[in-house]
Amino acid sequence: MPASSHSYQAELVGVFCFTVAEKPTIFIQEAAFQACYLNWRYLTIEVRPEQLADAVRGLRAFNMAGINLTIPHKVAVIPHLDELSPEAEVMGAVNTVVRVGDRLIGHNTDGKGFVTSLRQDVGIDPAGQRVVFLGAGGAARAMSVEMALAGASHVTIVNRSAGRGQELARLLNERTPVEASFVPWHERSHFAVPSDADILVNATSIGLFPSVDAMPDVELDSLRPDLLVCDVIPNPPRTAFLKAAQARGARTLDGLGMLVGQGAIAFEMWTGVPAPVNVMRQALAQVFGVEG
Ligand code: NDP
Repeated sequence: MPASSHSYQAELVGVFCFTVAEKPTIFIQEAAFQACYLNWRYLTIEVRPEQLADAVRGLRAFNMAGINLTIPHKVAVIPHLDELSPEAEVMGAVNTVVRVGDRLIGHNTDGKGFVTSLRQDVGIDPAGQRVVFLGAGGAARAMSVEMALAGASHVTIVNRSAGRGQELARLLNERTPVEASFVPWHERSHFAVPSDADILVNATSIGLFPSVDAMPDVELDSLRPDLLVCDVIPNPPRTAFLKAAQARGARTLDGLGMLVGQGAIAFEMWTGVPAPVNVMRQALAQVFGVEG
C-alpha cells in the first residue's frame, strides 16, 4: 500500500488533454480509488501543445505518480519521457505514463484494454484469430498491435485514407509477428467482410455521439452469425452498427469493456493494487446511463 494513504498528501495522477474532452476516465479512476481506500486524486489538466514540455516538468516537480495522455499529446510526449514499453515503442504513441523513482515510463493501454475485454467479456483469446479493423487511426493502431502481439494470425486494415492504412499494415508486418494486409475503403462502396474473418472491429469514429445514426459502410449481409462484431465507440455503447450486426445474428462487443480495461491496467500500474474492475464498470455504466 502506498505510503501516502496514511498521510495528508494525496498521490496525484490525471490526464493531460487539449481541449478538455468529455472523457469518462476520471469517474472510473476516482470510483476505484474510493473503493480501495486510496488517498489518490485524478486531475483533468488542459495543456496547450506548446506547453507540453513544461507540463511534463511540472509532473516531475509535483512528484505525480503518472498521467494519461489524449490527443494531441500521445505522440508529442515521447521525447520528454525516459523510457517506453516495447508496445508503446512499436505504436509510437503513449496514453499512460508511470513514474518509477525519478524515471517516467511511457505505456499504451488502449489495445491491452481491448484484448482484456475480448478475453473477459466474450471469452475469446486473440491467438489464431483473423481480425478485420475498420480504420487506421490511434485506436486501430493500438488494438491491431496488441492483437498481433497476442497471437492473431491475420490482420486486415480497411481504411478510407490509403496512405494511413498502408502505413499501419506495413508497421504490423515489419514490427510484429502477424501477417497484415490493407484494403482500400472507397466512398459509397460497401466493404464486404471476408468469409474467413473471425472478428470485425469498427475502430473509426463513425457512430460517435452526436452522429448516433451513422454506420460504417459495410455490406450488412456479410455480417454472419459466427462473426464477432466489435465497436470501439463508447458513447453510445450500443451503436447503430452493433444493433444491425445483432439483427443479423452476429455476436457483438461494445467499447465500454475496452475503456474499463485500459483504465484498470493504468490503475494497477500506478497503484500496484488489483483494480476493482466491477466498481469501475459500474461507474462507467452510470456515466452512460446503461446497465453495468
Ligand atoms: P483517429 O482520428 O486517430 O482515427 C479515426 C479513424 O476513423 C481513421 O481511420 C479515419 O479514417 C476513420 N474515419 C473517421 N470518419 C470516417 C468516415 N466518415 N468514413 C470512413 N472513415 C472514417 O481517432 P482514434 O483512432 O483515436 O479514435 C477512433 C474512435 O475510437 C473514437 O470514436 C474514439 O472515441 C474511440 N476510442 C475508444 C476507446 C475505448 O476505450 N473504447 C479508446 C480509444 C478510442 P481516415 O484515416 O481516412 O481519416
